Amino acid sequence: EEVKSLNFIEHIVEEDLANGYGQQDLRFRFPPEPNGYLHIGHASSICLNFGLGLRYNAPVNLRFDDTNPAKEEKEYVDAIKKDVKWLGYEWDTERYASDYFQQLYDWAVELIKQGKAYVDSQSSEEMAEQKGTPTESGKESPFRNRSIEENLSLFERMKNGEFEEGKHVLRAKIDMTSPNMLMRDPIMYRVLHKAHHRTNTDWCIYPMYDWTHGESDYIEQVSHSLCTLEFLPHRELYNWFLDQLVDTEKLRPKQREFARRNLSHTVVSKRKLLQLVEQSVVDSWDDPRMPTISGLRRRGYTPESIRNFAETIGIAKRENIVDVSLLEFHVREHLNKIAPRVMAVLNPLKVVITNYEEGKEEWLEAENNPGDESDGSRQVPFSRELFIEQEDFREEANRKFFRLKLGGEVRLKNGYIIKAESCTKDTDGNILEVQCTYDPKSKSGSGTEESLRKVKGTLHWVSIAHAVKAEVRLYDRLFNDENPDGHKDKDFMEFVNPDSLKKITGYLEPSLKNAKVGDRFQFQRLGYFNVDTDSTAENLVFNRTVTLRDTWAK
Ligand code: ATP
Ligand code: MG
Ligand code: MG
Repeated sequence: EEVKSLNFIEHIVEEDLANGYGQQDLRFRFPPEPNGYLHIGHASSICLNFGLGLRYNAPVNLRFDDTNPAKEEKEYVDAIKKDVKWLGYEWDTERYASDYFQQLYDWAVELIKQGKAYVDSQSSEEMAEQKGTPTESGKESPFRNRSIEENLSLFERMKNGEFEEGKHVLRAKIDMTSPNMLMRDPIMYRVLHKAHHRTNTDWCIYPMYDWTHGESDYIEQVSHSLCTLEFLPHRELYNWFLDQLVDTEKLRPKQREFARRNLSHTVVSKRKLLQLVEQSVVDSWDDPRMPTISGLRRRGYTPESIRNFAETIGIAKRENIVDVSLLEFHVREHLNKIAPRVMAVLNPLKVVITNYEEGKEEWLEAENNPGDESDGSRQVPFSRELFIEQEDFREEANRKFFRLKLGGEVRLKNGYIIKAESCTKDTDGNILEVQCTYDPKSKSGSGTEESLRKVKGTLHWVSIAHAVKAEVRLYDRLFNDENPDGHKDKDFMEFVNPDSLKKITGYLEPSLKNAKVGDRFQFQRLGYFNVDTDSTAENLVFNRTVTLRDTWAK
């Protein structure tokens, strides 16, 4: 039974199926360039392509678009594979554009032989000058009419490493008067004396994106090659290159475009994210403040929450900025279902229960998940000296303050009703300690009349003697501007939020002592937290994934 409505790409596929494509003709690919880590924008493309694969039971290739050895590395290949897997997808085959370097070279030679490509020996400045403008035709290169023999010989010598970078390029001979600037004799190959992460020094000429992408799709027999909107003007060139080669027996790939997704208060561009790493604005690509998949994972996001986010925003024909709060909504929604509730105090204020026996402790039963009884319960220790949050106590407050005030009562979660009797202050007036009394008959769950008594506020707390100390990392937005990339006169780096990370010491209930890297919890009333990769048995480190919705009365 169909629940979800089709997006416009799925409509294109449906139309193709109606017009003669067989189900077995469908094949998709996700084509990252291994020049950085994947980010939340890529998640949209991953979910789209792999989602199509699942919907149509069609294979999806993971294709590394590795044609620029200057920026690409094995480290990035490995990180990309890990992230795609973590998001929950399986590719059919792992492919590399570099696998096709020989085939692409052979086809380029074919094009030269057909008089459709030539070696240009001008500087890039000269070529740029001749390109013209969208309203003004370009000028033909003086090398455009080189003989086929000379082109073949020069191209081979380029390949053999006889020329330095920039000396010659291979260009397609298309049309210098085309209204589409990309059709004005685009470059197909340039000389680059750089080792490649896979082909090492086998090649010193490298194919350009436009020459590589469509032909790679063709080799892999990808039916629908989906890319972002900036490639719309490239479609004509994509098709031109295919026209020169296509064997009519084989399926001809189609390029179709969808809008890039941007997220507010961050940047989604590998180049810019690399800049944040290189300039130490963040610690690494997987810094929990980064909008990378690895950063979100380390922050405590779940694959489901990212997939649901991508599914909700869907795909569009126009670029826009999605508010980061929507991403936060999805992780909250998922963690609300799966994260056990625990108690931790991040900004401690000492409470002494004066009528509770010194040295006594008792263990109280606490539910792990009020939404799911099958998650069971655990024991939390109670004693005479406790921590509550500083924000949860005031000497005086109006009736809307449902926390603790002098003369007032609150319930301690899973525990007793306490009443604040007095407090101690330092000479500056800071409150150091609150003295309370408790009602011994009011224990939660004991069934007594007192335990059922309604008091306005419920506070979380920890027993000081039993508390486990941990480093807690609180994150704020990495940029102070909604669209740091969107200013003509200012660089995005000017909007970096200098206070995006705060490290504090938290006091946790002792059940958290053995928490493992990646474990996720709700610290009641504070938010969702997970154990960071920096965490050790001796020094626990927690990240705040996201705060809770502000539903708790303040
Ligand atoms: P970046 O500028 O971050 O390097 P890119 O488009 O150059 O982005 P690729 O590695 O080429 O990065 O991207 C792989 C695929 O993911 C491409 O099909 C690309 O169009 C898509 N993609 C990249 N960024 C986004 C985004 N923000 N929203 C949707 N799809 C994206
Ligand atoms: Mg790209
Ligand atoms: Mg890029």
